[in-house]
Amino acid sequence: MFLRGKTALVTGSTSGIGLAIARALAAEGAAVTLNGFGDRDSIARLQDELGARYSSADLTRPDEIEAMIAEAGAIDILVNNAGTQHVAPVDELPPDKWDLIIALNLSAAFHTIRLALPAMKARGWGRIVNTASAHSLVASPNKAAYVAAKHGIAGLTKTVALECATRGVTVNCISPGYVWTSLVENQIPDTMKARGLTREQVMNEVLLAAQPTKKFVTVDQVAAFTLFLCRDEAASITGANLSMDGGWTAA
Ligand code: NAD
Repeated sequence: MFLRGKTALVTGSTSGIGLAIARALAAEGAAVTLNGFGDRDSIARLQDELGARYSSADLTRPDEIEAMIAEAGAIDILVNNAGTQHVAPVDELPPDKWDLIIALNLSAAFHTIRLALPAMKARGWGRIVNTASAHSLVASPNKAAYVAAKHGIAGLTKTVALECATRGVTVNCISPGYVWTSLVENQIPDTMKARGLTREQVMNEVLLAAQPTKKFVTVDQVAAFTLFLCRDEAASITGANLSMDGGWTAA
């Protein structure tokens, strides 16, 4: 229970990677605030399971982010994880999808960081972990907004890490390859359409084709890595873009 006495906010933690991270932090004693969309009953059950608070803030809205951070109080561990995807060639990408992806996958992290960092610096300890992606390092066709946002969050991570390097606050991003979550499930129909492929072809020839291990990354692997970054032994890891992609970006 090495996180007893620490508070944590995990954005986009009602499902997928964020939920696994919230569970891992809570299991080590952190007082967790959940955030994300979902039906009220399931979220209430999650709150009971984790003894967690919950913010329904829509992270595309800076005013709601401000209210969420004000309610959460001083945050020791900030995990910027909420994200979405839209698959289409750039000249068919609806501008509102571009705006949504940049707002949620990139600008939301700027807002949570600018609002949570002063309290971390004041206490001389903090951990910021951003869920980036292999797409923070390499591109794939039909994902212009997502790749731009993920490259952006990698740059934001490095910059903030330098700005608070002497203040006991580390800032890193984890860059998973394909993790089996609803975000991946939901892009299969669009990828089928964009590339004229069957579901099986998308799974094997598009998704797992990129990963030399031929296995999806698991949410528990990402959660365990996040937990390690919160340990004192990880105090010298800062400004890093940490790949967990089954060898994808080594190729
Ligand atoms: P997911 O769809 O399971 O989870 C997304 C979470 O974000 C959910 O809790 C959802 O409610 C929340 N969310 C969506 N819109 C929101 C909004 N406007 N305001 C607040 N919360 C909102 O997806 P996931 O795969 O767990 O994705 C989590 C993160 O991991 C994302 O940043 C994604 O880009 C990144 N990622 C995923 C993969 C993958 O293969 N699944 C790979 C690399 C990176």
